[in-house]
Amino acid sequence: MTHASASASAPDNALPLDMTIFGGMGDLAMRKLLPALYMAYLHGNLPGSTRILSTGRQHIDREAYLAHVEQHSRGFIAKGNFNDKTWDGFLQLLHYVELDVQNAPDFSSLAAASRQGAERVFYLSTAPSLFTTICDKLAASNLVDANARVVLEKPLGTDLASAIEINEAVGKHFAESQIYRIDHYLGKETVQNLMVLRFGNSILEPIWRAPNISSVQITVAEEVGVGSRAGFYDGTGAMRDMVQNHLLQLLCIVAMEPPTSLSPDAVRDEKLKVLRSLRRFSLADIARDTVRGQYGHGVSGNQEVAGYLEEKNVPPDTRTETFVALRAHIDTWRWSKVPFYLRTGKRMARRSSKIVVEFANPPFPLFPGAPGGVANRLVIELQPEEAIKLQIMAKQPGSGMQMQQVALNLDLQSAFQQRRAEAYERLLIDVVRGRLTHFMRRDELEAAWEWADPIIDGWATLGEKPHPYAAGSWGPSESFALLARDGFSWVE
Ligand code: NAP
Repeated sequence: MTHASASASAPDNALPLDMTIFGGMGDLAMRKLLPALYMAYLHGNLPGSTRILSTGRQHIDREAYLAHVEQHSRGFIAKGNFNDKTWDGFLQLLHYVELDVQNAPDFSSLAAASRQGAERVFYLSTAPSLFTTICDKLAASNLVDANARVVLEKPLGTDLASAIEINEAVGKHFAESQIYRIDHYLGKETVQNLMVLRFGNSILEPIWRAPNISSVQITVAEEVGVGSRAGFYDGTGAMRDMVQNHLLQLLCIVAMEPPTSLSPDAVRDEKLKVLRSLRRFSLADIARDTVRGQYGHGVSGNQEVAGYLEEKNVPPDTRTETFVALRAHIDTWRWSKVPFYLRTGKRMARRSSKIVVEFANPPFPLFPGAPGGVANRLVIELQPEEAIKLQIMAKQPGSGMQMQQVALNLDLQSAFQQRRAEAYERLLIDVVRGRLTHFMRRDELEAAWEWADPIIDGWATLGEKPHPYAAGSWGPSESFALLARDGFSWVE
């Protein structure tokens, strides 16, 4: 679909839209934000009057900025979606504003480039240490009005105290209803589909609870190592980088009660209840129910790769974890005694993110020669492909009553011929249309840190080194033992 043919469905924003990207020359802007905005433009999902104001400190003009975008961003648009004419049209929307966020007078240039009365979106794609100064200076330059919105990229703090600090600083100038805290996992089609699957059907709800569900697994495995992010990553680790945000958000979607409506607050109230019901870990729980790992030298994608400690900019004696597995509990009637196993790591065997809901086996084995193991699983695959599969037992054809596990594949690709938007595209369209449902509210973020902080502090108190694992594996053996102890195993 070209921009021309799609523009009839463009959102009818009453006001022109000025989207300012702080960090407009950065990696995220080039790899994700601009390609997502191009796709939104291609499909007529940006108001016709949109302007994108990219900011950065480099002393370059608009032509040089467009050349940078051409070189660093265009390649991230899938070939099938690329169209020269649409791309040229998209580039027309882009402007460059030279601006050092530490320098107040530079904000006059931004004010001059912003249109009077426009709806303003500020996307803060910079280190969070700059959020306070950006928001203060935007307000001082009279750029924040009732229509303005601010989008905050992760990491939103490194602990509860720093998250509160960011929230207070941004909240001084933006009301909560103007703040979009991005967790791109919430923008994934399959994650949004899980809500529809759970709450748009009545067949799952009666069994979506203990004791019918015996366990839930959430894995976010990355094949890549820390790469050039080592400087940032070593001060962060897998718990802060992945578990506190992405994995907990996925857990909320699996575990939340049915909301009373789809309004942002109704949905986020239910997610908040889950976060507040997460059982706190004592030191004994941490020692027993969590596993930290750090990748060593190994083979990934058929290539020998360095261990974490050999990566550039990683201190030789660091104890930062690149892998976490843990067993969590949600203390509610619905989830009483159901373990939630969370696992994430870098340099794992392959890129794979999935949620696996395991149902209790039938109470006694009626059929002889049953293959054993878990009879029914709902598997929600998020990466590398999105898919939903229900594994059930079926009779093997022929005489006798031999059973075999088969997958009822909810083939959404062929059921819906429409294209599936990438998470950033979908979330950016939500921002443009003022839809907050798939963004985190302040109290959710803080509740997530309240749960995560004691675990991180506990690891420091216990002083244990992370368990080594070979790059290209599924993590340390202790992670398998964590589930085996309860009679479960990770579904790869
Ligand atoms: P990056 O490539 O280092 O870009 C950061 C940007 O911040 C640069 O373009 C830089 O602009 C700008 N900046 C720094 N100091 C500035 C100042 N004083 N005034 C104005 N601009 C300033 O980082 P990134 O990877 O794009 O990440 C941006 C944020 O998103 C980070 O918080 C990161 O953790 C988060 N994030 C990134 C990814 C990802 O895939 N990259 C994923 C999730 C979250 P100039 O140098 O051009 O002035």
